[in-house]
Amino acid sequence: MPNKLQIIERQNSALQELNEIAAISDISPIETLRKALEIGKNYFGLEFGIVSHIVGEDYTVDVQASPPQTLFDGQLFALGSTYCKTTLEIDDVLAITDVTKSKYIGHPCHRDFNLVSYIGAPIRVNSKVYGTINFSSAQTRHLEYDKIDDEFMKLLARWAGSFLERQSVLDELSLAKHRFEMIFENNASGILLIDSSCKILMVNKRFCEIIGFSKSELVGENAIIYYLDDISYENARDKISNTDKSSYLYLEHQLKRKDGKLIWCEFMGSQMDLTDDNKAILWSILDVTIQKEMQEKLEKQATMDYLTELYNRRYFTNRLEEEVSRIKRDKNSTTSLMIFDLDKFKQINDSFGHLTGDFVLKEFAEIIKRNLRKTDIAGRVGGEEFAIILPNTDITNASVLANRIREEVSSNIITIDKKDINFTVSIGLTALSLEDNNSDSAFLRADNALYMAKAKGRNRLEQK
Ligand code: GH3
Ligand code: MG
Ligand code: MG
Repeated sequence: MPNKLQIIERQNSALQELNEIAAISDISPIETLRKALEIGKNYFGLEFGIVSHIVGEDYTVDVQASPPQTLFDGQLFALGSTYCKTTLEIDDVLAITDVTKSKYIGHPCHRDFNLVSYIGAPIRVNSKVYGTINFSSAQTRHLEYDKIDDEFMKLLARWAGSFLERQSVLDELSLAKHRFEMIFENNASGILLIDSSCKILMVNKRFCEIIGFSKSELVGENAIIYYLDDISYENARDKISNTDKSSYLYLEHQLKRKDGKLIWCEFMGSQMDLTDDNKAILWSILDVTIQKEMQEKLEKQATMDYLTELYNRRYFTNRLEEEVSRIKRDKNSTTSLMIFDLDKFKQINDSFGHLTGDFVLKEFAEIIKRNLRKTDIAGRVGGEEFAIILPNTDITNASVLANRIREEVSSNIITIDKKDINFTVSIGLTALSLEDNNSDSAFLRADNALYMAKAKGRNRLEQK
């Protein structure tokens, strides 16, 4: 019989072994448990060791340490046929040295599996019964179990419980990480995380598709990599730093893809603290190039005359209103306004048809365009009526341009279906006045001048 000191020494060394296996990180959780079962088997001197998981009436062997070809991991038993059912019922350590000499004589576990000796305890994970850790043998144990065995069994059960608990926390963490990666990677928006120095910390698959750079080309780099130039990069930084830290950010940027193509992106961002002294912005990004191009096209259509591609009357009038206001602010500047009306245009339509009439209108618009300076604004303000605003141009200089256009028109011959068409234009010219309250009075003066030009025989310029 071992003396008490020897028993305590044995227990201490078993506990030390347990501590050591828990610290080994390169073996799987299952193998760690198997090693713990080996320690328990040696300690108790029994041939079978099991960590069981019990759900309802099902007893599953999670891990076993047993002689070859006897038990295997994952084996399923009916709980009723195990000593563990009794262990759970008493909710404590159950120790049977020899079942034939105990009150458990005739237990199904003896009857079905011929197990004579057993010691086991319930395992709790997160305060709930998980299963048992137990050791057994077909042989009678030559030593009676004592209080120290009981204590060691409890320790083993607690150790296994906290090991499984840690394991389930790890499983949850890895599941949460996996879920996060799925949501981040497969998001239909581009996602970009940058820190306060504009260093790119994370990008998802969609952002890489939008911008044409790979993940490794972006992460760790400065965000300037996808801006058109330093100015647009600085503008974006200014806008971000001027936004209240608690509110969401909204930006629309033109960016440069790796292949050099320019794209429009919508950026929606939220600001967050990575650490106390490192703030970051999480951006959600959409490629809105197609929508932007469509919008620009629609805006252009809304300001353009479809036939001549000059401005339409509405846009032209707005610009004239702006110019009337501008010269009131800048009293030293002069702006001229001229209006054109094609002469006897009805006859062109009547003689050559409406389509040819349209062609003549386009031809006249081209002559105007050829004579325009960058700052001049030309529009088609009626059927065969056109007008030009000439900012910072006095009436003398404007009349030079007007006569040039008039002469170019009268000397221009259009040949359609072998027929030569020649036409002329009359022009009314005026200068915007500080007395003009709106565009109407300026238009009226130019119109009166035009009327005079028609009255005096057409193909001429009059001014008011
Ligand atoms: P005037 O020298 O007095 O200006 O004579 P006019 O024939 O040009 O004068 P009027 O204003 O009577 O006729 C303008 C014509 O312009 C009438 C109209 O049928 C034609 N017109 C207006 N819009 C268009 C258009 O978009 N296409 C074509 N082909 N003709 C147009
Ligand atoms: Mg007319
Ligand atoms: Mg006319």
